[in-house]
Amino acid sequence: MKTTVTTIEHRIGGSPARATSTRSAPVWNPATGEVQAEVLLGESSDVDQAVETARRAFADWRETSTSHRARVMFAFRDLVQRHAPELARVVAREHGKMVSDATGEIVRGMEIVEFACGIAHLAKGEYSDQISADVDSFSLRQPLGVCAGITPFNFPVMVPMWMHPIAIACGNTFVLKPSERDPSASNLIADLYSEAGLPGGVFNVVHGDKTAVDAILDHRDIAAVSFVGSTPVAKYVHARATAAGKRVQALGGAKNHAVIMPDADIGFAAEQLTAAAYGSAGQRCMAISAAVAVGDAAGSLLERLKPAVLRLTVGPGEEDASDMGPVVTAEARDRILRYIEGGERAGATLVVDGRKREAPEGSRGFFIGPTLFDDVTTSMDIYRDEMFGPVLVVLRVDSLEAAIDMINRNPYGNGAAIFTASGSIARAFGHHVQAGMIGINVPIPVPMSMYSFGGWKSSLFGEHHVHGLDGIRFYTHGKVVTARWPSTVHLTSGAARTMNFPTAS
Ligand code: NAD
Repeated sequence: MKTTVTTIEHRIGGSPARATSTRSAPVWNPATGEVQAEVLLGESSDVDQAVETARRAFADWRETSTSHRARVMFAFRDLVQRHAPELARVVAREHGKMVSDATGEIVRGMEIVEFACGIAHLAKGEYSDQISADVDSFSLRQPLGVCAGITPFNFPVMVPMWMHPIAIACGNTFVLKPSERDPSASNLIADLYSEAGLPGGVFNVVHGDKTAVDAILDHRDIAAVSFVGSTPVAKYVHARATAAGKRVQALGGAKNHAVIMPDADIGFAAEQLTAAAYGSAGQRCMAISAAVAVGDAAGSLLERLKPAVLRLTVGPGEEDASDMGPVVTAEARDRILRYIEGGERAGATLVVDGRKREAPEGSRGFFIGPTLFDDVTTSMDIYRDEMFGPVLVVLRVDSLEAAIDMINRNPYGNGAAIFTASGSIARAFGHHVQAGMIGINVPIPVPMSMYSFGGWKSSLFGEHHVHGLDGIRFYTHGKVVTARWPSTVHLTSGAARTMNFPTAS
């Protein structure tokens, strides 16, 4: 018997919209392996409709007082907090992660909204009195227009919140194209914005795949594009949207290393690494996927890591007893299984084999157990590629210099962490490592909202990181006004006409 599933629609102008979409994609429940909904896949005409709605809304929103925009953000923040349990369940059901982990991403997203509540202070300019004779100067920041966000599956609440609260607080309007794998959270966010008093059209959601993304990248009425996802797509988005004259920030993939020094508290490091490698089944852009053991740290690290990994409970994200849920799709599971087979073939030592972990009884979900490799080298695919699953590889080196050299040779540069008891080792690590975010005895150093998040090298294309002051700069134009009011009131010398290039006099 054919069962009907819900259709997830776009949100345009504050209301559900089918627009002209005729295509759809399945939204899986990764814990059961069943299709739980269909999401509409937007055509370029749907993107046109959302952008036109956002363009019209911009005319009024940009003129709305900064204080009023802040008040809407305060109301939105309270609604997000009130609806956090519901949002977390929606995320767990479509992404597969633990409800507690989903709650964590909602809290981190909410912190960006709290940051955006301070927009009146954050976007204020500077004033210089009497910068030249009878001349004053002041600077201001003004919104860009319609901004777009294209986001990945792994943080369906937090990553879009790196973007839209700041863009909107700055006076822009926004079109979000979330991941088609877990689209529902974005619609709930759109509803909460409406309830918070955000005028229709300021925040819009168009679901879709490459067709909708390309329409965004080429759209002449979109001023700026923020992207977060895998490196090949980030590179593509950056090139195409930049060619279309847009401001672009495109955050890509990662291979995050944690260096374990012999002087570290190895028990602490092993527990922290276990959480950082296998939390969210390794599907975090800041997950630690490579542990670099220096000197004789390796033996004691492996002694503690192995039992910690074996203790992890794999099960549905909606069950409190689980430590780790499934991965997002059957394709993702099969890709990770291929990497495990490849790692074995390449000669790495398989310390914990996640393939042996049974899925919860009767489940056809996309489960794969936590996997640990030792004796990995930099030429192996399990080191070189971003596997994006619950697989941690251990590499052994002789010195801190060799560990830093390995990190700096890696094409990615998102995050890097070190476990050590030495301040001078930690300082040298922070100074020499080529990555955007450094953790010292902190394996997942995601910056708080008032700092900016972003990587180096193939982890970011564009100049601006997200949120913090970089976020304010990205979503605004700078302007400096130089003003003179010719007057009969001259308490000082007055200004003479000059044909020369103006200099301060
Ligand atoms: P993805 O690149 O497959 O998809 C990201 C977005 O791009 C989605 O909205 C998707 O619909 C769209 N997209 C996919 N393929 C496209 C194509 N060929 N052309 C145009 N658009 C396309 O990424 P994902 O699998 O959803 O997310 C996981 C990836 O995101 C990992 O590589 C992870 O490291 C990365 N990520 C990075 C950060 C960061 O801060 N650097 C944060 C989160 C995730």
